[in-house]
Amino acid sequence: MPPKQRKDRPTKRRFAGNRYTGSLKKACLEDEPALQDEDEEACASAKKYKQTSSAANCVMIPHTLPYCTLVDEDLLNEAVEDAKDWNLMHGNVMRTAEAPGSSEVVNYAPFLLYPSPFPRVGLQEAKRVQYAVNKLIHSVATDFTFLEEVLQSVIEVDVFTRKLLEICRTVHKEGTSQEIHFGMLRSDYMFDTNTKQIKQIEVNAIASSFAGLASKVSMFHRWFLERQGWTVEQTDKHLPENTAASGLAKGLIEAWKLYNKQDAVILFVVEPETRNIFDQRDIEYEVYKQQPQVRIIRCTMSKVSKASLDSNSKALLIDGKEVGVVYYRDGYAPDQYTSDEVWQTRLKVERSSAIKCPSIQYHLAGTKKVQQVLSKPGMLERFLDAEESALVRKTFVGLYSLDMGEEGDAAVAMAMENPGKYVLKPQREGGGNNTFGEAIVDVLGPISDTVERTAFILMEQIHPQSHSNYIIRAGNPPHVENVISELGVFGVVIGRGKELLLNEQHGHLLRTKMMGVDEGGVAMGYGAIDSPYLE
Ligand code: ADP
Ligand code: MG
Repeated sequence: MPPKQRKDRPTKRRFAGNRYTGSLKKACLEDEPALQDEDEEACASAKKYKQTSSAANCVMIPHTLPYCTLVDEDLLNEAVEDAKDWNLMHGNVMRTAEAPGSSEVVNYAPFLLYPSPFPRVGLQEAKRVQYAVNKLIHSVATDFTFLEEVLQSVIEVDVFTRKLLEICRTVHKEGTSQEIHFGMLRSDYMFDTNTKQIKQIEVNAIASSFAGLASKVSMFHRWFLERQGWTVEQTDKHLPENTAASGLAKGLIEAWKLYNKQDAVILFVVEPETRNIFDQRDIEYEVYKQQPQVRIIRCTMSKVSKASLDSNSKALLIDGKEVGVVYYRDGYAPDQYTSDEVWQTRLKVERSSAIKCPSIQYHLAGTKKVQQVLSKPGMLERFLDAEESALVRKTFVGLYSLDMGEEGDAAVAMAMENPGKYVLKPQREGGGNNTFGEAIVDVLGPISDTVERTAFILMEQIHPQSHSNYIIRAGNPPHVENVISELGVFGVVIGRGKELLLNEQHGHLLRTKMMGVDEGGVAMGYGAIDSPYLE
């Protein structure tokens, strides 16, 4: 057990040097000169080292990286304290669970001490496919008939999705006041060990978070490894630059420019209390850095409910300020619609001429039901050319409809016979809503013959390679854990009607969680923010 190893470990391997600087490499170098060589050799040698050295005093972190660490309690604690301070000082921070509405007391957001290994080809592929994903979401969102058809079975039983679709119908019938759609998406993947490919978990089309904090953790890992003796060339080679926050800020500015009014503001719609406020602030400050004259205001739904709509221009006005762009960091979960007034507010914003990120259509295009339908043969080709369709299709695992009828019956039977292979997903965002493995029997069993099942889709489970790392979380003493990672790639898309005006991908998020934990949300306390070490 790692804690026992730490306690029992002899300390004689402490090398003479600057604090823990270089400890990982140098400690090994004393016994393993091959680690000075090229990365690949070093890696092989390091693996050997792991196998041959007395396990009591050296552990590879993570096992494939060309460095290893002494699990010396003093050195480790010193490194962890340094790491925490760096993260606090550079803004990888969150409000506390005890006071989510206050910035009086904050803490570092959970992070990984080392970058986690991720296949270079996996990140490259995820970035390449993002352009097609952006185009796909835009094309689906602007095909009202398709959205209606696809969500038909869901809305019979899922009140939340029905209410969203009703807003969509209303605006569609009335005629839109804003032709421009704006999405800041995040496509999530795991690198599947069987197929050796990235496989899509989902596409987030509303309130995609962690562009801000992930950018910080990417910078942190660079600093941390360089402090341990890595050269800039090594970090350049293995730790990709992360432009997530600046990329999203650029997207907001592009949308604001398209609104084309110098004094129009960008509105962040925020929850009354949120632990993740600094992730939002980071994007806000990036906007100011890039375009100092833009004004950003932060309002809750309740404040937005007081906004007025100009009857002629349909301009959205808050405290006399015209809103050019609305960026939702709220409004994705049923419990955020606390009253009918909040629903009316969402409708009011949809009716306005403000550019919405996302519009109600984009929001719906990001549902799990849409993802499942798009995986059916020929569906992607409706929206993408052959090459783009092939790229996206390669990232899909099995997705199955639970609609009433033969196809749905077959999927139910599959899930009940072999639940360990699947995830059951309702049309929800924000984590904590899915059912994994054996528990599917309890959820799906009682509704297997009823229309209730159509609220869900069934998805094949993806199995990424595990590795070792330290999750640094407030209140938890650090120890080596077996963890798995999930990659998110940010996409920015703006279109007018069917036409695409901007299609970009910017930066990434790696989230890592203990193996065996099903859900992955950082804010939910499952995962932690990480960055990829490209192999
Ligand atoms: P949400 O919209 O709530 O974020 P997701 O579909 O992203 O829902 O699922 C939440 C988490 O569950 C993911 O971040 C991932 O860790 C895990 N997960 C979801 N689908 C799969 C899958 N097919 N295989 C393995 N893990 C999954
Ligand atoms: Mg998710």
